[in-house]
Amino acid sequence: MTDDSTDNQRLMPALFVGHGWPMNGVEDNEFAANWASIAHSIPRPSAILCISAHWTSRGTFVSAASEPETIHDFYGFPRRLYEIEYRAPGAPRLAEQIVQLAHSTRVRMHESRGFDHGTWVVLRRMYPEANIPTLQMSLDLSLKPSLHYRLGRELLSLRREGVLIIGSGNIVHNLALARDTEQAYPWALAFDREVAARIDTEDHDALIDHRSLPNSKMAFVTDEHYLPLLCVLGTKERNEHVSHSAMRVVLASISMRCILIHS
Ligand code: ZN
Repeated sequence: MTDDSTDNQRLMPALFVGHGWPMNGVEDNEFAANWASIAHSIPRPSAILCISAHWTSRGTFVSAASEPETIHDFYGFPRRLYEIEYRAPGAPRLAEQIVQLAHSTRVRMHESRGFDHGTWVVLRRMYPEANIPTLQMSLDLSLKPSLHYRLGRELLSLRREGVLIIGSGNIVHNLALARDTEQAYPWALAFDREVAARIDTEDHDALIDHRSLPNSKMAFVTDEHYLPLLCVLGTKERNEHVSHSAMRVVLASISMRCILIHS
């Protein structure tokens, strides 16, 4: 008989990060501090797989470059943000492994893709030394949400090998309605809390059927910032724990909540 709790102790935690705006990559704020603190609280990963809201594609890809470039995929920000390079090595062999593990959809290698800001803004705060092999997996928005969840499930075994799986997005992400105020929209707070509660009660079916949740029509227009959460939840073993941090909605309509799954 297997002892699940002992077994789970060998699992690298998995993480969903609310990344917010690119300035979190350079501002010393509570969110950057939280990401650094999460990194200090978990074992050092053997590699990092990041599923970022900012890589959407037709078909699903994993980045296989050995020296990924830093992509500055935003406009109108201060020059210092464009000067940042996050030079973590790639992980081509892990990319091959992911291609083999994935069954719910075909995953292909992308030889030249670099790190978008959903990845490097967070990782430069978590692992500023940039010395952990890192790759990204894209989001095919034509896939049903349940397949993003199942894909996460198929990658669970990587956690046993010390791979840190990160989903980088935002549970509430309505840029069109964002405004510079401390006052969050009631529907933004409600959706964020609804999702958090369902994560805590392990009601993953409701989270997969996110379009049916109350306030979802306001929480986002397109769901690329939400879907990385499903990949991460797919990697969760039943008796693992969940810790929430950065439970704030900023700019009225962006949830910064982070979810750590751990034994
Ligand atoms: Zn984003």
